[in-house]
Amino acid sequence: MASLNRNLNLQPNKAMPAIFVGHGNPMLAISDNRYSRKWKALGKTLPRPKAILSISAHWTTPGRVAVTGMDQPRTIHDFSGFPDTLYAQQYPAPGDPELAKEICTLIQSPAIECDAAWGLDHGTWTVLMHLFPKADIPVVQLSLDLNQDPQFHFDLGKALSSLREKGVLIFGSGNVTHNLSQLKPSAASVDWAVSFDEKIKGWIDSRDDQSLINAKKTDDLYRMAHPTDEHYLPLLYILAQRSKGDVLRYFNADFDLGTLSMRSFILSEG
Ligand code: ZN
Repeated sequence: MASLNRNLNLQPNKAMPAIFVGHGNPMLAISDNRYSRKWKALGKTLPRPKAILSISAHWTTPGRVAVTGMDQPRTIHDFSGFPDTLYAQQYPAPGDPELAKEICTLIQSPAIECDAAWGLDHGTWTVLMHLFPKADIPVVQLSLDLNQDPQFHFDLGKALSSLREKGVLIFGSGNVTHNLSQLKPSAASVDWAVSFDEKIKGWIDSRDDQSLINAKKTDDLYRMAHPTDEHYLPLLYILAQRSKGDVLRYFNADFDLGTLSMRSFILSEG
């Protein structure tokens, strides 16, 4: 693991924070509003990571798990119908092929494939360009195997948690509620979204990981909140990072477009 010991800028024995971000609408990349301002402000308080491992809702690979292994990941504009200025955005952070290899060694099961084709999708770069605007910290993405159940994703998150001790910031990007057919821009919030979001918060606050893992099977509102699973799963990767010494702080805990929970949180050693 020698490569993970280079360029650490940590207080002794302090693990790097882990962050879950509700990324919302891609336009936030170039917006100045309460969400993007919070991302910018948070970025100024963070220790400098050696690298960032991003688990984004927008890289799904059913049947396999992959990690980006290229030197220079491309900025992927994986959306349609937005203004040219958004397509012109680039986030030229380097990759970290050594970290990708370390992850493939660290995780033996499932076998993790080293990917040379993906890059940084908008779940990653639209937020990181506010958190780390210089784009000078290496970023690696891990994909979501949608054929697996939520427990698999939580367990994989746990297996990655030792990276925090080695200067890697583990970053999950999704949304606590995400049903694009139910957006209500004219409403401040909608009851079902508030109910689901509050339930998730309650389980997080009581450290009830099993209810968070089982929500897909047991919760009546889950399918309304998540017609598909990919925006929920990054939450499980970050909750799996939580250790006894971590303090959890929420930010951006409100709704965009009426039903899109922007609830986000950071775990850091108290
Ligand atoms: Zn998204």
